Amino acid sequence: MQTKAYAAHASSSPLAPFSLDRREPGADDVAIDILYCGVCHSDLHAARGEWPGMRFPMVPGHEIVGRVTAVGDEVTAFKPGDIVGVGCMVDSCGECPSCEEGDEQYCEGEHGFIQTYNGAMKGGGENTFGGYSGSIVVKDSFVLKIRHKEADLAAVAPLLCAGITTYSPLRHWGIMPGEKVGIVGIGGLGHMGIKLAHAMGAHVVAFTTSPSKREAALALGADEVVVSRDPAEMAAHAGTFDFILNTVAASHNLDAFTALLKRDGTMTLVGVPSEPHPSPNVANLIFSRRAIAGSLIGGIRETQEMLDFCADHGIVADIEMISMQDIDAAFDRMLKSDVKYRFVIDMETLKQAA
Ligand code: NAP
Ligand code: ZN
Repeated sequence: MQTKAYAAHASSSPLAPFSLDRREPGADDVAIDILYCGVCHSDLHAARGEWPGMRFPMVPGHEIVGRVTAVGDEVTAFKPGDIVGVGCMVDSCGECPSCEEGDEQYCEGEHGFIQTYNGAMKGGGENTFGGYSGSIVVKDSFVLKIRHKEADLAAVAPLLCAGITTYSPLRHWGIMPGEKVGIVGIGGLGHMGIKLAHAMGAHVVAFTTSPSKREAALALGADEVVVSRDPAEMAAHAGTFDFILNTVAASHNLDAFTALLKRDGTMTLVGVPSEPHPSPNVANLIFSRRAIAGSLIGGIRETQEMLDFCADHGIVADIEMISMQDIDAAFDRMLKSDVKYRFVIDMETLKQAA
């Protein structure tokens, strides 16, 4: 099944029209017409070759919402017409301890989990192509159910990566109502972190390098906003945070944030900058038993839990809709932190692409 797509042909070239073949749905596959795809900073890192191991041509996109067009004989959970989601994973070994515990993103199998794009298919060197395309075929156990109303579907797409990547650490570190939680970097991930932590009842403090986002962060649900480049504003919060979720996509000084944690507090990093952060000051950690941790997206069961939590709490992303043709301009604006807060591609516009 041929489908139109947009691909990066090399790390130095802009994305351009591309055509690719999707496999015929097998017994446990779901075929999906893609309606919307969010634009994650990871798409930019990957398409511009900022990470090692990138394969070209590359069709990015792992925040996919679409409509089921066909299902294999053994699929019982989905039927044609259903609205579904696909996130960052399309397969995993299914047998290792991580997979058995529902943490497929930490799959310990030979190939690790199979990424929605730039992920070799099981057993072969063949690549996977993501959501900047007209359709996709995905194993049923990696397809998510969406309960949000039809009018919200474009704004649901970013939940498939930005939503789960912030929800999972907030749950894993057991955020309780009233706890003081910092969210660093108010972009695609960070704005979801504010909404989710607020819905979990936390006292949320947004850290931004963009003073222009102050009012907007309050509107998203932050109780306080700190401009992280202002040392006096930072010092006022020293030693007070239970948890900090750091979503910044660039190398920066972590000590400024670890100093804000309480004794036994944790700062979890989810941003994956192309250059390493400066080495953290270990005394900052040792003298208050503070921790720096990391977290990768979330498992399929937890992604479904997050989607249901968002449907129950009326949570969607704040988005700016773009045409497929505008993707490189969107990447450039994302680099300048100039998006409130997630670009979403209307895949209808792909039909007009050459
Ligand atoms: P994004 O929309 O570009 O947001 C990143 C935010 O970080 C910016 O809006 C900006 O917020 C802040 N920032 C940017 N440059 C900065 C700098 N030099 N110093 C301090 N703050 C800076 O990106 P995103 O899509 O949310 O992704 C964020 C990162 O998470 C990326 O590295 C992405 O690859 C990674 N990611 C990881 C996972 C995972 O599973 N761990 C999943 C998805 C994405 P302010 O304007 O508020 O300062
Ligand atoms: Zn992502």
